[in-house]
Amino acid sequence: MAEKTADRVQQEGSPREPGASPRGAGRPILVQKYGGSSVADVDRIGRVADRVVAARRAGHDVVVVVSAMGKTTDGLLALARQAASAGAAAPADPPRRELDMLLSTGERVSMALLSIAIQARGFEAISFTGSQSGILTNDRHFDARIIEVRPFRIEDELARGRIVIVAGYQGMSYRREITTLGRGGSDTTAVALAAALGAERCEIYSDVDGVYSADPRVVPDARHLPELDCAVLQEMAECGAKVVCAQAVEWARRSGVALYARSTFDAGPGARETVVRRSTAGAQASRARAVVAEGNVVLARARGGHRLDEVLRAAGELGIGFRDLSFGDGGGALVIPLLNVPDWQGARRTLAALLPSLELVEGLASVSVVGDGLAATAEPLIRFVEVLSRAGIAPRLTVAGPLRLGALVGAAEAEAAQRLLHASFVAG
Ligand code: ADP
Ligand code: ASP
Ligand code: MG
Repeated sequence: MAEKTADRVQQEGSPREPGASPRGAGRPILVQKYGGSSVADVDRIGRVADRVVAARRAGHDVVVVVSAMGKTTDGLLALARQAASAGAAAPADPPRRELDMLLSTGERVSMALLSIAIQARGFEAISFTGSQSGILTNDRHFDARIIEVRPFRIEDELARGRIVIVAGYQGMSYRREITTLGRGGSDTTAVALAAALGAERCEIYSDVDGVYSADPRVVPDARHLPELDCAVLQEMAECGAKVVCAQAVEWARRSGVALYARSTFDAGPGARETVVRRSTAGAQASRARAVVAEGNVVLARARGGHRLDEVLRAAGELGIGFRDLSFGDGGGALVIPLLNVPDWQGARRTLAALLPSLELVEGLASVSVVGDGLAATAEPLIRFVEVLSRAGIAPRLTVAGPLRLGALVGAAEAEAAQRLLHASFVAG
């Protein structure tokens, strides 16, 4: 039976005791998440409906989380940018609150279509938005974090024997505003719901049959990883591997939910998958597991002049996330990934006004080797530096920690860097 959910999700102020399901001795709950390419058109939604119905027939209570169809979110973002810039003298950023109102509609379309397709197959189904599903977030628009899950309506509908379809990527803040969870955030919806419902497991379906040792679109000889530790996958996701979103892996790590990454249309007996669990093993010998990259990052450098707290306060006020921060006597640096910064044009202007000696270097990508024990000796870092330098790549920043060696390189150098690092660290 189920991998036990270690920390039940907090259900503060709820009329029910945590863990007291109205389902009584119900069927085991299965949460499945289908990404954008899996629900890209009505035909594919029909194939997903067949799979959901099969899981129900096999004896599960099924909760399905869906992403927006195909590239819908990108299309909506482009529309918002057009609307913001129309009539303005220069390209302008859309307000984040309105972006969330707009982007959350993408997932509502697919949830309703999937519910209709399941009902057409003779099964009872009902669709819910994120807020109806009890996904409560902080009040940060565009990359909100889930702070609590109260899935009572879902539990009630499961108890009635229905299949529940949930719009991924969205929630409601404690100010009752609609929020979205950052790009790729439907994964987070799925794992957080799996934790709150005490689900047997969470299956993430996409266009790849699991997690590889590099993005198979970039590194042709990337290796399939049948098993992976949560901490390593979280590090991979935080540094650009978009196969599962980082906040989702963080939820899995905290709650103990077992994640299965699979391909939607390449399933069936014998199909490959990646199983992601919290590792119970002790410290591992130094071992690289994967190479990951993230395009569109900015290096912010303060060469004296600005204090760390000034820089952090400005980033916080602008709603900008960062990583790889280091500050010392002579100044400091931090890396800003732009994936979840929809208003960089304005943010850059504000940063320049507030912190005039902060240098912002654009057009960069980060490449990283992720694994266990990478900083236990100097050898892996020496090799990392040598591989890049032999290829004539001079990183703007190099970082090292137990789970990751990373470098900031020019955007045009990122693909070659991934292939060379993969050949040396994983395939070699
Ligand atoms: P979905 O829309 O279903 O959420 P995504 O596009 O977000 O799917 O994630 C799947 C994609 O992630 C794959 O098509 C693949 O190109 C990319 N990817 C990046 N890194 C990896 C990796 N290490 N392993 C597998 N896929 C990866
Ligand atoms: N539709 C959203 C995105 O494109 C969320 C997701 O796909 O998980 O980022
Ligand atoms: Mg995704």
